[in-house]
Formats: sequence, structure tokens, C-alpha cells
Amino acid sequence: MSIEEKIVRFLTGELKLQNMINGEFVDPVEGQTEEVIDPSTGKVIASAPLSTEEDVNRAVKAAKDAFEGPWRNTTPGERSNLLLQLADAILEAGDELTELESVDAGKPRQAFIDEELETTADHLRFFASAARNLEGKAAMEYATGHTSFIRREPVGPVAQITPWNYPLMMAIWKIGPALATGNTLVLKPAESTPVSTLHTLARLCAEIFPPGVTNFIGGHGDPAGSALVTHPDIQMVSLTGSVGTGKWIAREAADSLKRVHLELGGKAPVIVFDDTDIPTATELIAAYGLFNAGQDCTAACRILAGPKIYDDFVAALSEEAGGYVLGDLADEATMLGPVNSEKQLDHVTGFLERTPGHAEIVTGGGKADRPGFYVEPTVVANMQQDDEMVQNEIFGPVMTVQRFTDEEEAIKWANGTNYGLASSVWTRDIGRAMRVTNALRFGAVWVNDHIIMAPEMPHGGYKESGYGKDMSMYSLEDYTEIKHVMINLD
Ligand code: NAD
Repeated sequence: MSIEEKIVRFLTGELKLQNMINGEFVDPVEGQTEEVIDPSTGKVIASAPLSTEEDVNRAVKAAKDAFEGPWRNTTPGERSNLLLQLADAILEAGDELTELESVDAGKPRQAFIDEELETTADHLRFFASAARNLEGKAAMEYATGHTSFIRREPVGPVAQITPWNYPLMMAIWKIGPALATGNTLVLKPAESTPVSTLHTLARLCAEIFPPGVTNFIGGHGDPAGSALVTHPDIQMVSLTGSVGTGKWIAREAADSLKRVHLELGGKAPVIVFDDTDIPTATELIAAYGLFNAGQDCTAACRILAGPKIYDDFVAALSEEAGGYVLGDLADEATMLGPVNSEKQLDHVTGFLERTPGHAEIVTGGGKADRPGFYVEPTVVANMQQDDEMVQNEIFGPVMTVQRFTDEEEAIKWANGTNYGLASSVWTRDIGRAMRVTNALRFGAVWVNDHIIMAPEMPHGGYKESGYGKDMSMYSLEDYTEIKHVMINLD
């Protein structure tokens, strides 16, 4: 069947996804499947496998056998070349991936092309080059008469669990460092967005990597995810997901002391001081708050505005956000897609329905008047620090604004949630920017910007946003064991 025919089947709900185990597409052992929904229409687009413990056992066995086979002894150069091939293959399958990811995850097609497709391939290229650049201490006589050196070895078969907001990109952030360092893997995409992973990425990986090195299974957190992350032959678990799931995995991993890498939620503060240029800042902050319909763990969602600019800032941000065009995902003019599922729609609108009396919805405020799971771009002002919309992840196109009185209060409020993933400070005063950057307890701080990423730089949290870094050389550290070898020179 040609790719075009497959896409037609996808769009008409006839595409049947399968697991990829040991280089072969297979149905789940118990034969259970589930419908996958297009969030922009609510229509069925595919059926996905619902894996159970036996599917997990087969996938982990394949990963274990492949790890103990020649894979762990491949050279960094060999692994690097295969990752480069995968980067090329992703771009060659760009049209297919765009179609599938757009409709499955509710992304405006053009936004995916502009912001995610090339970036995904570029991140893989970074991991390919990083594979050849791991460093350790110099071989040296640190104890008299003995030469020491460091071996950096793969961890083994790893379990990787991805979320629904960036299904393809998150899968690449996981398989890149794992494969660069010689591990094998079993990856489970989120149940609501399995299509790009199970249909295309799994196929491309099977064409490029030896059987069993990359395995992909569909299914829910329970039983598929939980059976995978607790499997005794899995040596490390990497999750991008919610704080609750991260805590559960960390508790379960404690029994076998599995290594855990957790990229969890965020509630990014955006501190806008009085000396900020309002038109520039509001244009950028609206873009960073509404990109991907706000379903981004680093989204510019929690704005703290200075006392003098507060009123003008709220008015300008609301006007900017109100101009965001909701629409058909294939339409180039569309700036805002739906949220990912009916469950997420209820989650987001629930917050808005419970807006406290002291707060003001300045623009938007609820479900958009069209089919699918669209939420209006929304700005809620006059928020207070203890409000649930300030403290908890909304993960939708909603930005809250609070008025602070001085730098000290801004820092206190910015740090005053359980999250610690990303933040930004907006000011022309370099001394203030440096003071605030130092004081913020977040894994990333932008100054006069937000959300911009580079594959050479790490992404990961403080506090309940988790531990372990994605991207950068730091991500490869997590996927390697450090072995000290000491040789008696007598
Ligand atoms: P979720 O935790 O419910 O699901 C994420 C993944 O975990 C899914 O694949 C799910 O099937 C799986 N899962 C659920 N329970 C499991 C279990 N017991 N064992 C194993 N796997 C299990 O989160 P979600 O609501 O689907 O995803 C959105 C969350 O992800 C948000 O909180 C967001 O902030 C976070 N996120 C974080 C980052 C980051 O880089 N820090 C990036 C994207 C998303």
C-alpha cells in the first residue's frame, strides 16, 4: 500500500496500528485495540493496539537479546551513522509525519512544519554527533603504581514513556541519547497520540537499526506502561509526563533501584518588569503561551507584571491573544488548534468555570463555538498567588496575570509553586536580570525571551518538575554507567 493510500485510510479511520517488536509489526497478543480520535473533529482516525503484560514481556526480551548481542559493542561512529540515517528518513517521511501528527495531536499543519519537523531531525543530528564526543577523566596514575581510566558503558534495555503534546519530538528526545550511548529500548507513546510513533517512527527505526534495538508498543499507562516500567529486565525508566505518574514510577523503581529520568510538568512564571517594551513582550509572550494550544510544559502561562505597566500589559496581551485564529488544522491561517482530547477539554474549561470572583477573564474564557476540542485563547487577570489556576497546570491556551509590587515579591511568587521547569524575566536592567536569574529555582531561565531551545543546551526540571536532563551532553550522561578500571603496574 502506498503512503498516500495509508493516509487516506488514516483520515477515514481505517488505519490499523500495530506494535513493533524485534523488527516486526505484530498485533497485541490478546488482540485488544482502541479507537484514536482526531481532536479537531472528534472523529475516529485509526485503531491502536492495547498491549498487555505478555506484549511487554516480548518487547523487553527483544530489547534484552539485542543489547546482549552485538549492539552494545557497536562503535560510537557506527551508532552515529545510524542516527544520521534516521534524521534523513524522518525528513523524507516529512509529508506523512506532518499529516499524521497534525491530525492525531491536533497541531496546525504549518506550525508542525515550521517548528517541529526540521527541529526533530536536527536534534537527532545533535545526538549523532554527541555519540562521538563523550568525555571522561584522562587515564592517569591517581594512586601511585596504578593507572586508572574510565569506561562509559550503556545502562541496558531502557523503558521510555512519552506524552501526547509532542509525540514525535519527545520520542526523539528519548531514543536519541539512548541509542547514541548503546542502549536498547522499548518505547510506549501516550494512548491518545500513538500514530506518528507506531506507524512511522517504528517503521523507520526497524529499517535502520538491528532487530530488537528499538521496540514500540501501544497501550495505556495501566497495564502496558506499568508492566513495562516495573519489568525486572528494564534497567532505566525515562518518562515525560505528569507529576503523579512520575512519583508513581519513582516509588515503583525504588524496589529494584532502577535508574529514573523524569521530565514532568511545569508552570512557567514570566516576570515582566516595568521597563519592558510592552508591544514586543506581549507579541512574544502570547506566542509562547498559546503555541501548541498551551500544551507545553514550558508554556509562558503564569505572568507576573510590574505595577506600573500592569494595566497596559493586560490590555495589550488580551488584544494579542484575542487575535489568534482558531481553525481547520490544514488551513495555513490557523494559529491555534484544539486541545488533545475531550478529557483535556474538560480539564481546561473546568478551571475557567471555577474562576474566582476577584479574577477577571479579559479575553476568551471557554470552549470555542465549533466542533472538536477547541478552547478560546484566554487571558485571566487579577489572579492571586493561591488561586488554583496559578498553582496547578492548566495545559491549555490560558494565560494568567498577577500584579506584583517589587522585585522581591516577583521572585517569591515566581518560586511559589511546586514546579521548577522553566521561567523568564523581562527587563532592560542587566543587574536585575542577573539577580533574578540567580534567584529563580527553575531548570531554565530566559531573559527577554521564552521557550527558545537549542539541542546543545539541557532541558529539565527542579523540584516536582522532575530530575534528569533532556537534550545536550547531559542527557547522554543519564544513559551511561561510569566504570572505573584500575591497573596495578607491577
Ligand atoms: P501522564 O503522566 O498521564 O501520561 C504520560 C505518559 O505516561 C503516557 O504515555 C501514559 O500512558 C503514561 N503513563 C501513565 N501512567 C503510567 C504508569 N503508571 N506507568 C507507566 N506509564 C504511565 O501525562 P499526560 O497528562 O498524558 O501528559 C502531559 C504531562 O506531561 C503534563 O503534565 C506536562 O507538563 C508533561 N510534560 C512534560 C514535559 C517536560 O519536558 N518536562 C514535556 C511534555 C509534557
